[in-house]
Amino acid sequence: MDSSQVPSKSCSICNEPTSLKCKSCSSSAYCSPKCQKEDWSLHKLLCSRLAAFSTPPGTNFRRAIYLPIHEKAPKFVWVPVEKSRLWDGEIQDDDDADFTEWLGERRFGFRMMKRNQVRNRELENEIQLTFKVTAYGSLGIPPLEVNECTGHVAKGKNISLWRGPILAMKMVGKDSELYGHIDMEDLRDLADFFTVTNAVMEM
Ligand SMILES: [Zn+2]
Ligand SMILES: [Zn+2]
Repeated sequence: MDSSQVPSKSCSICNEPTSLKCKSCSSSAYCSPKCQKEDWSLHKLLCSRLAAFSTPPGTNFRRAIYLPIHEKAPKFVWVPVEKSRLWDGEIQDDDDADFTEWLGERRFGFRMMKRNQVRNRELENEIQLTFKVTAYGSLGIPPLEVNECTGHVAKGKNISLWRGPILAMKMVGKDSELYGHIDMEDLRDLADFFTVTNAVMEM
């Protein structure tokens, strides 16, 4: 079997077919109580918060995961999106997201997660990480503060220090410019990502 073809409703931990769901959030699925237990220390950071984020405040809001700088636990947040427009106002098919409430006005950088290298699976829906970039080092601008949440979700196995707040949003499928709602199970892919991927260097 080609392990890169594992469907997304496979066990978050080991990719085997699932036989049980988390009773609390009814979202993450596992093959066994053993894998559920292995996921729990991460899963519990968001599990009880999903219920309050089941219904968007409006049709143009998408559920995202926010990783604050100085808090250990990530948060679900709503991010407004709208169809992008050409210079003449013509509406396009792809989405523009408004990150300012969570990331502020500074310049943004992006990183696409397409694959979970730790668990050897393709992501059915890509995850977009958005973070701040600064002209660090020039004009006396100090570096952004280290993001403690990334270290916590990666259990200290993050291979580099990410800085500033980070927002994770789920795309609809692959190579898509449409945003969907991020789910509980995406938290495992997110945590694994920091254990194998270097932070983008500030320029
Ligand atoms: Zn499993
Ligand atoms: Zn749960």
